[in-house]
Amino acid sequence: MPQSQSTTSISRPRSSSVVRALPGVNVHPLSQAAAGQPAARQPVVRPVAAAPQSAAGRGDWLRFAPVQPLFRARAAQRLAVLAYHGVTDPRSFGAQLDRLRRLATPVSLSAVQQAVTERRPLPARSVLVTFDDADRSVLTHALPALNDRGIPAAAFVISELIGTEKPFWWHEADFLARHGGRARSLDCGHPSQLLPRLKAMADPDRRRSLQELRVSADRRPPRQEQLTPADLLALREGGVAIGNHTQGHPCLGRCDDATVRTEITGAHEALTRWLGEPPAAFAYPDGGHDPRAESVLQELGYRLGFLSDHRLGPRLPNHPLQISRLQVDSTTSTRRFDTILSGLEPAYRRWRGQAVA
Ligand SMILES: [Zn+2]
Repeated sequence: MPQSQSTTSISRPRSSSVVRALPGVNVHPLSQAAAGQPAARQPVVRPVAAAPQSAAGRGDWLRFAPVQPLFRARAAQRLAVLAYHGVTDPRSFGAQLDRLRRLATPVSLSAVQQAVTERRPLPARSVLVTFDDADRSVLTHALPALNDRGIPAAAFVISELIGTEKPFWWHEADFLARHGGRARSLDCGHPSQLLPRLKAMADPDRRRSLQELRVSADRRPPRQEQLTPADLLALREGGVAIGNHTQGHPCLGRCDDATVRTEITGAHEALTRWLGEPPAAFAYPDGGHDPRAESVLQELGYRLGFLSDHRLGPRLPNHPLQISRLQVDSTTSTRRFDTILSGLEPAYRRWRGQAVA
């Protein structure tokens, strides 16, 4: 599921303030955030002027911030794992992949796994491309673009959707609520709060609320053709490794222990059956780490686990079942893409209190 990234426009700091703060790299809030430390509220570099308001322009100016070269140099020594969802803009996605070929060293999931096994850091500027939820656009749009450029990737699938025409539950809930669906625990609240409220519920309550929405709505949600087991094999054949993203994509933190186990092992067994081998990588639904999930992953022999914390990670992951990822979208402009890849945009978001996880 896409993370709840804030769509608030960010405003532009005075570059002179940034320059003044630059010599104190260790105290600059952006630099501290980039180093994975909490951003201190000291030499305040408060944004003042308005940023471009268009979606395309949002955040582009950061590309020209004086600290961008510093961040880019730092990022060269980090591992960037990009977390996409579907590909809605193939042309823009292709441009992003072209940037990767120019600026980075695309690596495969198995290369990351090998680095972890051999305790040998990945090459400088390593980037792994991943897709969560794996809708059909991963097969129809992403795969050809990746293959054209020889870039490997990984896709994390929701096993109970494979081979079905079921929509993602969050799309279904939104549709049902807009078509007369009601649920007791969702009765008072703004429509924009529907998804946050469902995600905040204990998992049995979320399932019950979804069921109430289904029986009360006056229309059924449109069907959504999902990947099939044969598609998973085609993706793997094309260099896109397949990983586990649970059975039904609940928020693991809202599930009891037995459900956490069932969600992971159920998907593990299904994927093993379809792929002929057990998956070795897992992406936490909603991106948040869950220690109970990690224990189950260890039992099952998983080598890699991915978060959605919008951070760069070390070239040799310290915690292979807690690897950081950067959130990107196929519509992200190449200028903004550069600042995400460098870690500047994520650091800026954290500093602005727009952290995504
Ligand atoms: Zn997801």
